Amino acid sequence: MSQETIFSKIIRREIPATIVYEDDEVLGFKDIAPKAPVHVLFIPKNQIIPTLDDLRAEQAPLIGRLALAAAAYAREQGLAEDGYRIVMNCREHAGQTVFHIHMHLLAGAALGDFGV
Ligand code: AMP
Repeated sequence: MSQETIFSKIIRREIPATIVYEDDEVLGFKDIAPKAPVHVLFIPKNQIIPTLDDLRAEQAPLIGRLALAAAAYAREQGLAEDGYRIVMNCREHAGQTVFHIHMHLLAGAALGDFGV
C-alpha cells in the first residue's frame, strides 16, 4: 500500500522546495540537508513507489527516467565531466527516511568523504 510522504506535498507545491528540474514524469529539487556541494533528489511525480524493492517490472522504465533526468541536469550544470554519484537507499539499513522512491545526485567535489 503506497502512502503519501512529504515528497507528495513538494510535488503539489504545498510546501516549499528549490525545484531545479521538471519533466512530465520527474521532479528534481535540492536536498534540504545537502551531503555534498550539489545534492539534488529526483522523484517520480505520478506514482508513489515506497522503495526499490517495491518496483514492479512494468514500472522499471521510471528508474531510467530518473537516471536520465539526473544525467541531463548534471550535464546542464557542467558537472558531468568531473563526474557525480547516484544513490538509492532502500529501507532501514541503507538509512532510507522518505518512502517515495528517489535518486540522490551528489556532485561538486571528489565524493570519497561524502555519503548519504
Ligand atoms: P533517503 O535517506 O534516501 O530516504 O533520502 C531522503 C532525503 O530527503 C534526505 O537526504 C533528506 O535530507 C531529504 N529531505 C527530507 N525532507 C525534505 C524536504 N522537505 N525538502 C528537501 N529534501 C528533503
